[in-house]
Amino acid sequence: METARAPETPARASLPEDLCRQMGEWRHDLHRNPELGFSEKRTSGIIAAHLRSAGIAVHEGVGGTGIVGVLQRGTGSGAIAIRAEMDALPIPEENDFGYASATPDTMHACGHDGHASMLLGAALYLARQGTFDGTAVFIFQPDEENGRGARAMISDGLFERFPIDAIYALHNLPGLAPGRVAVRSGAVMACEDTFRIELTGKGTHAAMPHRGVDPIVAGAQVVSALQTIVSREMDPVESAVVSVTDFMTSGVRNVIPGQVVITGDARSYSPQTGDVIDAAMRRIASGIAAAHRAECAVRYNREFTATINTPREADIVARLAATLFGADEVDADCPPLLASDDFGAFLEHRPGAYFFLGNGTDGSNGRALHNPRYDFNDDILARGAEFWTRLIETRLPA
Ligand SMILES: [Zn+2]
Ligand SMILES: [Zn+2]
Repeated sequence: METARAPETPARASLPEDLCRQMGEWRHDLHRNPELGFSEKRTSGIIAAHLRSAGIAVHEGVGGTGIVGVLQRGTGSGAIAIRAEMDALPIPEENDFGYASATPDTMHACGHDGHASMLLGAALYLARQGTFDGTAVFIFQPDEENGRGARAMISDGLFERFPIDAIYALHNLPGLAPGRVAVRSGAVMACEDTFRIELTGKGTHAAMPHRGVDPIVAGAQVVSALQTIVSREMDPVESAVVSVTDFMTSGVRNVIPGQVVITGDARSYSPQTGDVIDAAMRRIASGIAAAHRAECAVRYNREFTATINTPREADIVARLAATLFGADEVDADCPPLLASDDFGAFLEHRPGAYFFLGNGTDGSNGRALHNPRYDFNDDILARGAEFWTRLIETRLPA
């Protein structure tokens, strides 16, 4: 992502002043009262109440704490959905501003407070004075951070109950100038897979290794050999990461343990690459275990699917952003990120696009997502909401 560009104030959006002020108030209130995935009861209650007060049909409890708002105008059969997330993270906030989290060990460190406020602002604007013909569907999703909310809504019949033609979402991006839009066709966010390798040997006295089977020595070799999956088995033009993130034993000073558990995380841009990693990991771990007389069990889980933008919808985002904010505010072919978003699960069912909106480069706005001193940038609320209202009005023309 570009970071060299000087921070700048986005052009004033044409949303009413009072709505922009309200979005800021909602954002601070949600930030102060964060809720973890599938526990977004207060958050979803507030959103539902505002949607209802604007005359939008509200469907609560979709996929747990999810909400769907439906706003229909005219007779058009087209339907466009926009998604925002509602969940926070189990992180103790280190910011000390007035609206910092009042809930211990819980924080909106990914800006979902901003995304939800933005979409709520857009929905209210469209309900009051939007000019379109068709159906706008506002999806407020639970539990994005654990990658389970999108699937929960889909399993709850989201696409059958609310037929839509395409779905869109945005994510704020620290390090990108405030309000700048970055999008790309194809893979924009990665798959996330997790793995767990259990090596079982035979515990013994540290001074009598020959009486047991040492899973630590085998495990250490497995950790080293896993590095060759990306470096020796992947096509160098493909992107993938395999990271071991924990190595657990019983940890007794003078005992060789009977078992080692290795866990980690793998990222790539396609399920096929995940298949290659999965197969190589099983072969490497079981081969090394066998060489050391140990037993081996591998679990490889697909947590997040990749987020793959359809070309037409990515192009719609780039063109609309250029029209609204100026061509020099838009990167239509940004590099993909190896982070993950479960929005990819929606894109397995419908065309759509996911794009980044610059959160800024200064202070808390420029700190990485999930940092305990990160904060969403209030100055981009108007631009995001403006984009959503214009997307509905241009994709569902009156
Ligand atoms: Zn996040
Ligand atoms: Zn996020």
